[in-house]
Amino acid sequence: MPLLSCTDALQLIASKIQALSALRAVEIVGLDEAHGRVLAQPVAADRDQPPFPRSTRDGYALRATDAGSPLALLGGIRAGEQWTGKPLAAGETIEIMTGAPVPVGADAVVMLEHVSADAAAVTLQPGRSAKAGENIVQQAAEARAGDVLLQPGTRLGPAEIALLASVGAAQVDVFARPAVAILSTGDELVPVHETPAPMQIRNSNAHGLAAMVAAQGGVPRILPIAADTREALHAAITAARGADMLLLSGGVSAGKYDFVKDALLALGAEFFFTGVAMQPGKPAVFGRIPPDSTHGEQWVFGLPGNPVSTQVTALLFAMPMLRALGGEGANGEGERTAPQPFLAEARLAEVVAVRPGLTRFLPALLTSSLGGATVRTTGWQGSGDLNANARANCYLVVPPDAERLGEGTTVTVLLQ
Ligand code: AMP
Ligand code: MG
Repeated sequence: MPLLSCTDALQLIASKIQALSALRAVEIVGLDEAHGRVLAQPVAADRDQPPFPRSTRDGYALRATDAGSPLALLGGIRAGEQWTGKPLAAGETIEIMTGAPVPVGADAVVMLEHVSADAAAVTLQPGRSAKAGENIVQQAAEARAGDVLLQPGTRLGPAEIALLASVGAAQVDVFARPAVAILSTGDELVPVHETPAPMQIRNSNAHGLAAMVAAQGGVPRILPIAADTREALHAAITAARGADMLLLSGGVSAGKYDFVKDALLALGAEFFFTGVAMQPGKPAVFGRIPPDSTHGEQWVFGLPGNPVSTQVTALLFAMPMLRALGGEGANGEGERTAPQPFLAEARLAEVVAVRPGLTRFLPALLTSSLGGATVRTTGWQGSGDLNANARANCYLVVPPDAERLGEGTTVTVLLQ
């Protein structure tokens, strides 16, 4: 198979996502357990928002046309109260606090700071006036009772959780999290709790991947390390069949002991790409094991074993698919918006020169201020350098046709 460009690889994954049909099982969770989950049902406003004309200031409710003369003070209301006296008439005012319902008869609120008030009369300060509607959010201006506020397929963050709370959604229908099997391959690997012999290394990839999967809404399951033999891989991949997604690390290059693709093929996998014009991550594999009588389809990513390659390719390719399998972007009407990797723009704080031809992902540190985000690379010893990777909080994306990115240019970063 030819190398795909990075852009084509992402497009291919998006097209597979758009063609996903099955929706996941639905679970009911308490509102405070719903953060990070994906909404499975539309949620509508249970009443108008705001439910009454709401004062947005501490001040005085009045008729805007009366603002020029001293006003008689009828009394006051605070948030949570309703004016129960007679409707406000010409020449009158009622003291009102932020969040209280504007009394019938008033059409504006003037700020406390803009009036002089004594027991007898309230007068606007010189130069101050009032406009009808000022400092009032009219009933239903934000939403009407019955309006759909959140669509299925929405990932729930703090803003959505607060909105759900405002409509009384103490329980929320969310999609079940996808199960992700994580299989590290390599004769040189030992589990994290074992002491490696001098020529061995610890299986760090599985744990980094498990953290990434959990952060993006999946349920990771780390499988025992598989040796670099067809038999061991066959057995391990078979054991992973129940999962919605399989993340393999290592064994996908062209080395003498790289049998992952062979083992997948022997299990009936189809491949959509087996190499991407990128660095790190060039041997990345994306495929699918079709459903059989006992298992559903399984999406498979064969990630190169070098730790930075593993994380870059997982972030870029596997996480959008994971989020889609978790229901993100599925609006329930058969249409899907494919989740995208988290890419952003920043100002480059240095000159970066590379050999053109491949899309590069360089470990980099993004620092942000109100003036914008700035990025610089962390320097690295190549795609095995976990330390440079941990000093970074993103990857600088260097397009395949660029040889030199100048200081101060706007660049793209892949966020972790
Ligand atoms: P591979 O893709 O299998 O050729 O592995 C490339 C490099 O990544 C080798 O130096 C491996 O030792 C290293 N590597 C492979 N798998 C892991 C892993 N699970 N954790 C840490 N390093 C790994
Ligand atoms: Mg290997």
